[in-house]
Amino acid sequence: MASSFVPKTFKNFIAGEWVSARKGGTLENRNPANTDELVGIFPASTADDVDAAVDAARLAYPKWRLTPAPKRAEILFRAAEILLGRKEDFARDMTREMGKVLAETRGDVQEAIDMTYLMAGEGRRQFGHVAPSELPNKFAMATRVPSGVAGLITPWNFPMAIPSWKAMPALICGNTVVLKPAEDTPLSTYNLTQVLEQAGLPPSVLNVVFGDGPEAGGPLLENSGVDLVSFTGSTATGRIVSEACAPTFKKCHLEMGGKNIIIVMDDANLDLAIEGAVWGGFGTTGQRCTAASRVAVQKGVYRKFVDKFVERAKALKVGDGLDPSTQMGPCINEQQLQTVMSYVEIGKAEGARLATGGHRLEGGAFAHGWFHEPTVFIDCNPSMRICQEEIFGPVVAVMPFDTFDEAIDIANGVQYGLSAAIYTRNVNHAFRAQQDLQTGIVYVNAPTIGAETHLPFGGTKNTGNGHREAGLAALDFYSEWKTIYVDYSDRLQRAQID
Ligand code: ADP
Repeated sequence: MASSFVPKTFKNFIAGEWVSARKGGTLENRNPANTDELVGIFPASTADDVDAAVDAARLAYPKWRLTPAPKRAEILFRAAEILLGRKEDFARDMTREMGKVLAETRGDVQEAIDMTYLMAGEGRRQFGHVAPSELPNKFAMATRVPSGVAGLITPWNFPMAIPSWKAMPALICGNTVVLKPAEDTPLSTYNLTQVLEQAGLPPSVLNVVFGDGPEAGGPLLENSGVDLVSFTGSTATGRIVSEACAPTFKKCHLEMGGKNIIIVMDDANLDLAIEGAVWGGFGTTGQRCTAASRVAVQKGVYRKFVDKFVERAKALKVGDGLDPSTQMGPCINEQQLQTVMSYVEIGKAEGARLATGGHRLEGGAFAHGWFHEPTVFIDCNPSMRICQEEIFGPVVAVMPFDTFDEAIDIANGVQYGLSAAIYTRNVNHAFRAQQDLQTGIVYVNAPTIGAETHLPFGGTKNTGNGHREAGLAALDFYSEWKTIYVDYSDRLQRAQID
């Protein structure tokens, strides 16, 4: 599709100035639906740029820390208003750089808007607590204080939502920020940064360095001027991030992979379950950490489910996300497409039945993009690699089961613990599922995707390291508790002794 977009050279945002990478390197941002389209050219930053950004953030911290939170909130509120006005432009930019369909990129920008309004509201809350002291004439309270400089590393699948999930709570709590977005989707972070600048965020409070993981993300982890790190991405990279944070004891939040399941019971509303499985499995081309890449179906409805689900998957219209009739866009890049293709081979070799899909889409409208067919494997065994490992593409594995307990075992029998869903009309099963599923998020009669910004987001096991994103939980990560005792007795009072 022809585009009126003129490729532009973008810069880092350091100390309130737009600057090129010091070593002059650049990275191309190309449209995954049509790699002939150059969306923009971005800096390939290195340690020099990152260190300058951290220095700026450190210098800005003392003043930002003491800026009253309600004043910080006014800036965020203005940013949310600007985002709202630019939503359509930003969604189009995002579809160009990331490939997901316009309805979804609008949702991504909306998530950034929601998070920004939410955190603006938190500027007038951030409540602490006052507790009675065990001693007379003594006052005791705990209050939130910022941590310092936050280093944020974000992935490409939610190019504006995830940067905002991290930057907005960091800022409202009084931290200054260095953000390193994913190399595949820098434009959406550029747009977000411009909005914050326009909203009046003081120079150096937010700094952005573009570039790849090891070159631009690595130095952020090593810089001793960074106090806390929040990372979303693969489990393999999360381990690198965690280890790099350890020597300097950086507070570290990891949001990693998933192998999320939809359980369909015999008594489910089957059409609803199928609808959910299609959206959960193929929304965002399966490139969500919460994607429903496994579906376990009770034997009584298994055949019926499989027939209809496969039919629906087959009928999905794949193409350029800017075309309103497209239902599923491309994979993000060649490497991701190769991963998908290799898992198709793995699934076949493991003896799973390929019911639809299984091929790269080539030629015609697909000739210059990273498109893959919506793919469904059926009659899978829970121990197969396609049922255990995160694929991050449009591949769903369907497994039959007999009993509710067996379904829970299948659900919990993976290394991840992000999201799980159950479709049932049996209230006992619904409640037992939310009790026994070992995931951070559980849905009843809804697919595994669809988090809302005011509730905690995150997972257990190899998905996370105990922190949560969004909602009030975000404040817990981006602030420290400070406990304050005021003794107005005019004498030495010894706790636990007097
Ligand atoms: P994905 O496989 O989904 O692309 P990654 O975990 O590789 O996810 O990337 C998520 C984010 O982490 C990106 O911003 C990427 O540049 C960054 N990243 C990748 N490798 C490293 C690394 N060694 N150090 C710091 N950041 C990294």
